[in-house]
Amino acid sequence: MNSPSEPHVAFPAATEAQTVRITRRSFRTLSLLLTGVLLLTLTIVMVVAQQQNDNSVRHDAMLLRHAWQGRQQRMLTDIRDYAFWGEAWNNMHVRVNKKWAFIEENLGPGLYSEYHYEGVFVVDGAGRTRYAVIHGQLSDLPLETWLGERSRPLLAAARARHQEAVARNMIVDKVPAIVVAAPITPGSVPNLPPVAGPPSVMVFVNLFTPAKLAMLGKDLDVRQPRAPLNAQDAQASPRLTIATANGDPIVIRWLAKKPGMHLIFFLLPLLVITAIVIALVTRRVIRHAMHNAGLSDRRFDMLMSSQSELMESENRFRDVAEAASDWIWETDAQGKISYLSVRFTDVTGYDGKQWLGRHLDHLLSHATHSVVEWLTHYGEEAHRSPLRCHFISAQGERRICRLAAKAVWRSGQLDGFRGTVTDITQEVEAQARIQFLSQHDVLTGRLVHICPEDPLVMISLDLDQFKPINDTWGHAAGDAALNLISQRLQRCVRNDELVARVGGDEFILIIREPDRAGIERRCAQLLREVQQPIIVGSQSLFVGASMGIACAPQDAAQPDELLCLADIALYKAKQAGRNQWVCYSNEMSNQLEDKRDMARRIERALEHEEFRLYYQPRYQLQSGRLAGAEALIRWQPAPDLWITPDRFIPLAEENGLITLISDWVLMRACGDALSWGDDLYVSVNISPVEFRSLDLVQRVSVALEKTGLPATRLELEITENVTFENPQRALMIMQGLRALGVRLTVDDFGTGYAALGYLKTFPFNGLKIDRSWMKDFPESQQAQSVVAGIIGLARAFTLTVTAEGIETEAQLNQLKRLSCEEGQGYFLGRPVPLTAFSALLDVNDKTQA
Ligand code: C2E
Ligand code: MG
Ligand code: MG
Repeated sequence: MNSPSEPHVAFPAATEAQTVRITRRSFRTLSLLLTGVLLLTLTIVMVVAQQQNDNSVRHDAMLLRHAWQGRQQRMLTDIRDYAFWGEAWNNMHVRVNKKWAFIEENLGPGLYSEYHYEGVFVVDGAGRTRYAVIHGQLSDLPLETWLGERSRPLLAAARARHQEAVARNMIVDKVPAIVVAAPITPGSVPNLPPVAGPPSVMVFVNLFTPAKLAMLGKDLDVRQPRAPLNAQDAQASPRLTIATANGDPIVIRWLAKKPGMHLIFFLLPLLVITAIVIALVTRRVIRHAMHNAGLSDRRFDMLMSSQSELMESENRFRDVAEAASDWIWETDAQGKISYLSVRFTDVTGYDGKQWLGRHLDHLLSHATHSVVEWLTHYGEEAHRSPLRCHFISAQGERRICRLAAKAVWRSGQLDGFRGTVTDITQEVEAQARIQFLSQHDVLTGRLVHICPEDPLVMISLDLDQFKPINDTWGHAAGDAALNLISQRLQRCVRNDELVARVGGDEFILIIREPDRAGIERRCAQLLREVQQPIIVGSQSLFVGASMGIACAPQDAAQPDELLCLADIALYKAKQAGRNQWVCYSNEMSNQLEDKRDMARRIERALEHEEFRLYYQPRYQLQSGRLAGAEALIRWQPAPDLWITPDRFIPLAEENGLITLISDWVLMRACGDALSWGDDLYVSVNISPVEFRSLDLVQRVSVALEKTGLPATRLELEITENVTFENPQRALMIMQGLRALGVRLTVDDFGTGYAALGYLKTFPFNGLKIDRSWMKDFPESQQAQSVVAGIIGLARAFTLTVTAEGIETEAQLNQLKRLSCEEGQGYFLGRPVPLTAFSALLDVNDKTQA
């Protein structure tokens, strides 16, 4: 047994909301990145701004320092101009002439008003201040009141130099100041009288007052330069420190411009707006993406679940299809098979692939109509009322089946059909048997166990000539006869044996006989019992029996098989001439198989139009005129293969296919004959078997109606022994046919057992002397007298007489002499296809003319 297969999963198993998770993670990373970029930009902006600020401070400091140094240089130049000057030597060193200096403004208030020197001093060699102009006013204040202790080293440094001035940075009364000093010399004036002692020293003091610093700031574009307010302020930034000769350095503070702040004020709002916009957009995108991811996850989940549902349903379908006893089929709208389930091969034995593309009708048959037509007709409703039909299995068995179907529609168009086929052969057989057992007697209630080791004999017994009893004397007489025979058979079996009635006039016996002689004896006894006269009312009825015998365990061990083999043997017994028994042998099965094969081929031949119809002319012997033609069937399964009717007609008679063949022949022959002359008839052979069913009249009349051939132009040839099987029914059928207007002829007269009485009873129009009588005719005297006798007989019954198998001129002439009316044979014309026969008609017409 196959283990149930696991459903395959085509997608990797997805954990819950995978896309949502991935999307969320991606967006988290993206958000972090964006935030990082924003922060970095912010940092860069801040750093750049700071750098700009620092640069600006450095630049301001540099400007201030240069300005300070510049002022120092200018003061040195100024003092050199005044000190290294002969006039100054004369008027300020040799003697101090205040008039020359102050009044005449050689060293007067102009130094304050124009050069902004707050203090101008001249100190003599002894260190006394001899001249002072403070804030442009002549003053007596000595230098030390301004510079204190720092005045002395300054004077010393100035005297130490020759023709050089010195400059010192100082804080004078909390105000930054530049002080320059230079010794007074005659300058470039030659020959001035030298003066003993150290030279006088000229000192200029320039105070950087708040007003001056403010001016300086304006000039340099430095904001509000100033002296620090206190010690703490002196430490703050920005500041410029200028070293002094001794003591604390000079500190100048100012207001930084901070250009970086502009950058920040300009860029920061932009950055913030950008951040907000990015945040909003990102949020929106994330929401959208999360929504889509959610959708995609849900779709994926749905896809997964629908896929697994699909797999499950596919597996379920496959399991059901494999486990079911039924097979499943599909066809297109035209009924061509497009799918067959695995079970098809198991049930039918055929390879399913070979049936794909073939018509469903080739596989399944129904007694009255085409299966595909039924499907097309009932379409949607087809599954509600299944069709019972049959098929021939690969083993040649005829299997009964139930077809359920459903139409398949695609976009409003019929796309095909699908459904199941259930093999109900056993069910039908079992039902038939159950029905039979419930309605009829089981002759003995005893059970017989068939076991393989136990030798036993199964006899299938069928009554011969029983049907006429029913037909002639009625069913009550038939039942009484059956009961009587049952009792007789029961008498023939022992206690451990069994007899049962299994069908209308069929019985099964299971007996125990170890050897062939015993079997023969028991069969003879059974036949004797059956053949005893049956008294029904005042009538004595006679029946016979045919028996088929199969032995266990030699032939088969299983009851079913045994029964089947016994039936095969029974069939042989019936064929062998009834009232006998036949033991099963293996060749019978082979023959049976061959026949089944042949039956299948015949069916196929009908479907594929492999049959042809030949016409053999029949002439009026006296006038030589063409009277008509006999239609003779030929089978052409391949272009160069011809099968004659005696190879397949008997078999078709056995299995009932003859009806289908005859229908085809009738239609074709009547159709073909329409094109012949109005007075020519066509003669069609009808098998005796067809007289078993009353519908022959109907079939013939349908053929006539459909083709439009007048009934008088149709002749039916019936082999003579047909009349013996069921005279009453045959009579009825013949009368029916005659009523249509059709001619009836006894075919092959002189071979069967036709009693003369029948020629009188049945409404024949003519007889055909069997061609076997032509063999020695006319040479043999005996043949001559038989032929002459038959001709005489026919005349007596007013029947047209036709001689078959005329092969020589001598035969023809002799028949003419004997006044035989019609003749046919190779000498007159061989059977030919329609075209050749039509050509013959033309020639005939011309010769007649
Ligand atoms: P049949 O009805 O007696 O047909 C005459 C047979 O004798 C034909 O053989 C024909 O070809 C043959 N025959 C004709 N003239 C001569 C001759 O001069 N010499 C000899 N030796 N034979 C001649 P065929 O066609 O092989 O048919 C054999 C039998 O098959 C027919 O015998 C008929 O019983 C049966 N048959 C033929 N066609 C059909 C048909 O359509 N339906 C039925 N039910 N039986 C048919
Ligand atoms: Mg014939
Ligand atoms: Mg014949």
